[in-house]
Amino acid sequence: MDIFLQNHQYNYIMRQGRLIMSTIRTCTDNQVIETFKYSAVSKVLDACPGLSEEHQQLLKRLGDLQTAEELQLYLDKILQCTFKFPAITETRLQRLFPKVKKLSMPDLTEIDERPLTYFTWMDTATNKHYLVYYRQPQPSKEAAGKLVGIQGQYTSTNKTGICAFCKKTGDASLFSVRAKTRSAQSPDYYRSVGQYICLDSKVCNTQITELDALESFIESVSR
Ligand SMILES: [Zn+2]
Repeated sequence: MDIFLQNHQYNYIMRQGRLIMSTIRTCTDNQVIETFKYSAVSKVLDACPGLSEEHQQLLKRLGDLQTAEELQLYLDKILQCTFKFPAITETRLQRLFPKVKKLSMPDLTEIDERPLTYFTWMDTATNKHYLVYYRQPQPSKEAAGKLVGIQGQYTSTNKTGICAFCKKTGDASLFSVRAKTRSAQSPDYYRSVGQYICLDSKVCNTQITELDALESFIESVSR
């Protein structure tokens, strides 16, 4: 089975598939259902650019599904076509955060369970919050993908909020990062960039459907 989908694309296909099923269940007008399916498949293809004809055909089959059972079988199949997070070892993580002397380690077994866009973990003793993102290879820039590590501070909010990355409402925490560059106006001042994100990155990884917000956050704190 070819691997050609990213986690957020898989989630997007799942979301569109569920919308199709809910339209089939609630709508009696076949013309409306067919139009909805056509639009859902077009959106899926837009969200997965650059695919081969064969892979596009596989995604177009979303529009042929009629029942929740068929959708589940289809999702199980395309999950096999979704990139897994690269293998992570403690040594590799330590290398991503060279300035942290005693890095607390996440539960690395979770990483193998399903495809991920990113993962986070906390060091509750110090309120440190770590995020690791795998940037897919960018054809114009680099041949290989790249792991990016961001270290921030964790502030518990004890309330629900909208996650900046997946745009869903749920238990959120404030992830704030001191950006590398100092402000031009006052050299003693480091910029701080904060985002409300899902408290549990496992949940976020089942919901995230696009990378723009996550990538621009990483970009803004890496400069
Ligand atoms: Zn989220």
